[in-house]
Amino acid sequence: MAVNAKQTKYIFVIGGVLSGVGKGITAASIGNILKARGLSINIQKYDPYLNVDAGLLNPREHGEIFVTKDGAETDLDVGHYERFLDEDLTQSSSLMSGRVLLKVIQDERAGKYQGEDVQIIPHLTAAIQDFISEAGKGFDVHIVEVGGTVGDIESLSFLEAIREMNLRLGRDDCLFVQVVYLPYLGTSGEYKTKPAQNAVRGLLSLGIAPDILIARSESKPPARAVIPKLSLFSGVEQRAIVLIPNAPTIYQVPLTLEDAKIADFITERLSLRSHKPDMNSWKRVVKNALTRYRRTVSIGVIAKYTDNQDTYYCVFEALRTAAWDQQVNVDIVWVNAENLLRDKKEQAKMQAVDAIVVPGGFGRRGLEGKIYAAGYALTNKIPYLGLCLGLQMAVIAAARWAGLKGATSVELDEDSPHKVIDYMADQKDKANTGGSMRLGDYPCVLERGTLARKIYGQEKIVERHRHRCECANAYRDQYEGWGIKASGTSPDGHLVEVIEAIDHPYFIATQAHPELLSRPTRPHPLFVGLIKAVLNK
Ligand code: GLN
Repeated sequence: MAVNAKQTKYIFVIGGVLSGVGKGITAASIGNILKARGLSINIQKYDPYLNVDAGLLNPREHGEIFVTKDGAETDLDVGHYERFLDEDLTQSSSLMSGRVLLKVIQDERAGKYQGEDVQIIPHLTAAIQDFISEAGKGFDVHIVEVGGTVGDIESLSFLEAIREMNLRLGRDDCLFVQVVYLPYLGTSGEYKTKPAQNAVRGLLSLGIAPDILIARSESKPPARAVIPKLSLFSGVEQRAIVLIPNAPTIYQVPLTLEDAKIADFITERLSLRSHKPDMNSWKRVVKNALTRYRRTVSIGVIAKYTDNQDTYYCVFEALRTAAWDQQVNVDIVWVNAENLLRDKKEQAKMQAVDAIVVPGGFGRRGLEGKIYAAGYALTNKIPYLGLCLGLQMAVIAAARWAGLKGATSVELDEDSPHKVIDYMADQKDKANTGGSMRLGDYPCVLERGTLARKIYGQEKIVERHRHRCECANAYRDQYEGWGIKASGTSPDGHLVEVIEAIDHPYFIATQAHPELLSRPTRPHPLFVGLIKAVLNK
């Protein structure tokens, strides 16, 4: 069949057996290998929550909130997509049930259904299909990851919508990937396929037949022997079953898919014209990730949530990839911000690291600990990187060290007369409301002769934001006396975007979240600079 250049091809990635088996990484990796073949890709995460976006979710339970360039607050999988695709995605890449429901209800109120009974089928399912087609428009391939696992009540309407979409568009334009898990039974020494069989059956009962099975498993022993059986029971061709054993780095997954020649299967099945893949820069990332270097740099992350890596996922990835870039291992040391002031063990941990990072955060818990850590780095000339809240705490630390003892942030003490950090004018009274922060990409101008300018190597930069507070301008003329300077501002000069210490090898902080823009093939300069500062010490 001739290829219709305008028709977007859809790949749906659906879970089975259990959650947390790497559906997001699988979807991102499929995007990676298709992009390497010259195809244009968009990718979208559907989450069955009734939230409209991820902005008000608890990062301890749900993981970090990712922000797109146009200011959407999303699930952290969108961060995986940006890193694996090396693309800046948009609002269209994140879809929660709440957003679709809101649209349907708003349309109903606006009289758009003209007297009809508004129902899950066909109205909600049609709205879901509109969100998917809208996101896919103009791309060769649109990948949709369906959050949750087959069998969840919550995602039934979504699965019904993509079943209908497949009926409408036809087999040549839609492809279904199911990610399953193969448990290994140590006592009998074998991989069990029954849960995967049941997951496939669950999907078949909803009218969707998987074209590809991605089977996750332990790394040893190899699970190859189960492929014929899985194929027989699932009806998926043997060459379309890919085993993905646990790997030392998630960046391995695109290479595993490549070895299994699954992109050839996909392009053939969807009649996509593509060229030979160029995976060289990705192979370098994997090689760097797997290398054990002679030197290890330890970085203390002063955090409120010290029990879930996902809460600071991008920060950790940015630190790791920056370290690989400088050919060192990185040892990330959690320091509990809440206990830091009173717990000697926590202080000793902080004093032993090579560099300190204060990441973003909201609310008052742990703020004094973060201010203490910033002050420690400032006065002991320890390399420091402040990310959003980490800038705000650094400014307070500098002010207090210089003698303004009551210096504080509005988040700590709303009534203080010394709020060196205060709400932005348009943010007052918006606390705890959804989608109302300063969100997404904003430009910044870096002053000549500053560390910031040297690190970025350019005058104008763009970074991603998510915050309500800012440096109060009334205090800016005191910065020099506090030993710091505003080295980057918004183009109109109104907002302080970057600060640095005047007499310090590397004490820099930004109101933005540079970790969101760090990519494995191009680690962010502020993180690379931090590692370099340690190595130059
Ligand atoms: N809570 C601070 C603010 O709203 C910092 C936010 C952040 O670190 N992302 O400005």
